[in-house]
Amino acid sequence: MNFHVLTLFPEMIENGMRTSITGRAMEKGILTLHTVNIRDFAFNKHQKVDDYTYGGGAGMLMQAEPVYLAWASVAEKIEKQPRVIYLTPQGRTFRQDMARELAQEENLVFLCGHYEGIDERVLEEIVTDPVSIGDYVLTGGELPAMVMMDAISRMVPGVLNNQESGETESFSGNLLEYPQYSRPEEWHGKKVPEVLLSGHHGNVDKWRREQSILRTAKWRPDLLKGAELSGKEWNYVHQLKKKWKETQEKNENL
Ligand code: SAM
Repeated sequence: MNFHVLTLFPEMIENGMRTSITGRAMEKGILTLHTVNIRDFAFNKHQKVDDYTYGGGAGMLMQAEPVYLAWASVAEKIEKQPRVIYLTPQGRTFRQDMARELAQEENLVFLCGHYEGIDERVLEEIVTDPVSIGDYVLTGGELPAMVMMDAISRMVPGVLNNQESGETESFSGNLLEYPQYSRPEEWHGKKVPEVLLSGHHGNVDKWRREQSILRTAKWRPDLLKGAELSGKEWNYVHQLKKKWKETQEKNENL
């Protein structure tokens, strides 16, 4: 996987990505990172990349030409036109399934906006995927680009030591991950669930599946709609909901 990032702050991306798991994957050559400073394509005296918006209004806008030239400098080196992700609060919300899908690409270009954003005309010409990381407005696209690259990297074979851990994490099968414990067996009077110490893999798997369903029903019930549950498991969800409703009603009547 080759990441190309068009940004006004390449050092922010380099510092963030060349550490920890993604850094190690870059050293191994499984991932590559190529940052392009958009300012290098502003051919004016002060390398200015922003200007006032037509029609008035607060703030400055990144101009079309430097962004276009920065993109062209990347696109001309790649045979198949890469997908260009524009980080924007107006885009489709980033999710794990999108990370999994994007991890299939060989090259991905991330375009980071700043100030009030980027001139619409260049976005129309080069962007294939406008993506948001959530319904809030950040100062620039650098953090969202790093969030996306981190999540995508985990889906690239060889990036994680144990590939399995990328497959069984939260959101696979639309369920949250089960609770996990490490040593010691008892901490602050709380014991590790007995079944995890039993060495019986079948029972451990069964317990984990149940806990995943329970946790999802409790914390993210919206996810359950898309989860692949057996009839027995749906029954379990209905029972849980019934029990929680009864407890809530009992507490209200106290
Ligand atoms: N004026 C824009 C609007 O209201 O849609 C917001 C511009 S924001 C201050 C500057 C840049 O930050 C955007 O161009 C985008 O690249 C990035 N950004 C801000 N919030 C984001 C989010 N939730 N997801 C992805 N990118 C975001």
